[in-house]
Amino acid sequence: MSKNIFNDTEIAYKLKSKINLYNAKFLFLIITKKFIVSILTKITLFSLKFNIPIKWILRRTIYNHFCGGTNLDECTKIINNMRKMGVFSILDFSVEALESEDDFDLALKKKIEIINLTKDNDSIPFSVFKPTSFGRYDLFKKVSSNIILNNHEKDEWMNVRKRFSKICRHAKESNMKILIDAEEYEVQKSIDDLALEMMKNFNTKSTVVYNTIQLYRFDRISYIESLLTKFKKARFKFGFKLVRGAYLEKERELAILNGYKSPICASKKETDKNFNDCISLVFKNKTRVDLFIASHNEESNLVVIEKIKKYSLNNDDSGIWFGQLYGMGDNISYNLAKNGFNVAKILPFGPVENLMPYLIRRAQENSSLEGQSNRELVLINRELFRRN
Ligand SMILES: Cc1cc2nc3c(=O)[nH]c(=O)nc-3n(C[C@H](O)[C@H](O)[C@H](O)COP(=O)(O)OP(=O)(O)OC[C@H]3O[C@@H](n4cnc5c(N)ncnc54)[C@H](O)[C@@H]3O)c2cc1C
Repeated sequence: MSKNIFNDTEIAYKLKSKINLYNAKFLFLIITKKFIVSILTKITLFSLKFNIPIKWILRRTIYNHFCGGTNLDECTKIINNMRKMGVFSILDFSVEALESEDDFDLALKKKIEIINLTKDNDSIPFSVFKPTSFGRYDLFKKVSSNIILNNHEKDEWMNVRKRFSKICRHAKESNMKILIDAEEYEVQKSIDDLALEMMKNFNTKSTVVYNTIQLYRFDRISYIESLLTKFKKARFKFGFKLVRGAYLEKERELAILNGYKSPICASKKETDKNFNDCISLVFKNKTRVDLFIASHNEESNLVVIEKIKKYSLNNDDSGIWFGQLYGMGDNISYNLAKNGFNVAKILPFGPVENLMPYLIRRAQENSSLEGQSNRELVLINRELFRRN
């Protein structure tokens, strides 16, 4: 299998009209410029705060490119079209920056509703949630730092555990798998501990729960090694979703602010090596670990393909999934699917204002010089040239 499998732009953009492609080109031309992204982010947040009517511009541009719609119905056509191309969907109803217990209960209710509405749809094998949609960020931070909780906080934490348990149990009973997103370093220890508890409880017969491992952190391989050693004889399977990590700049700022050593690899090259080393570690322990590789990096996806070959596994091995975000890495998703691999795209949906933090993360990630965003432009240009 050569690297060229990701170069087939006809397959990659089959679902996109010429107008869609011109829009995408315009969008990527803007968001690859860090300076412009920074100014536009400020203008957008200001406008939303003061009810200046800019939602329609967002909807026609960045929102439409990266999101499925404001509700489930609006996503249906996209889900069906992707499936026709062999690509599965993971619906992500976005709720961020919640603060009260009622908010967290509502977030859980919404996630459960989505599972109920989609559990019989075999185009949607996974559900996903962001841990801090089920509890206060500061509470996760306290638990991660081993700070003793007062009685009220103990109750709150108990509620967080119950919400984790409820959603994972519900996913299992609905025959769905569930991905637990990774967040900032200062809250991740408590998330890891809860995710482990969920894996112990729900991954006994098959892998239901996947925890996310951020490989821009230099300590994650030793974390996985320690789990594999500690639970050598345990009767549950690990599910790991491997990502590089989305909070690079924030992590560096937090480390300086709080006076600890940055948990992030010193360079992109080190992150890349860490990522590929982790893939090797997982494949060495394949009988005990199921993998979801979440990346737009062609090299990393190719490393997994090579491992599948090396270990004589089927392309559609049920324990190996590839994942990209809707609106990114189409050349990877659709070409993997064409070659028989399991692929799913995360399809965020919800009101425009709820999705702003997500969209800002996408814009900032694409404006980073060390990302793959220029690759998107090259591919879109190539497809437009092919069609003209
Ligand atoms: C399906 C899916 C699910 C995801 N879920 C999560 C999640 O739960 N939590 C989360 O944090 N992220 C998540 N992400 C985002 C992910 O962590 C990356 O930010 C994003 O995918 C870009 O990395 P890449 O592997 O695609 O490719 P690349 O473009 O090759 O890598 C870019 C990444 O490399 C790292 N990097 C860049 N510069 C440096 C540097 N100077 N030093 C060290 N490292 C550097 C950063 O992590 C950066 O995001 C998800 C991504 C996908 C596709």
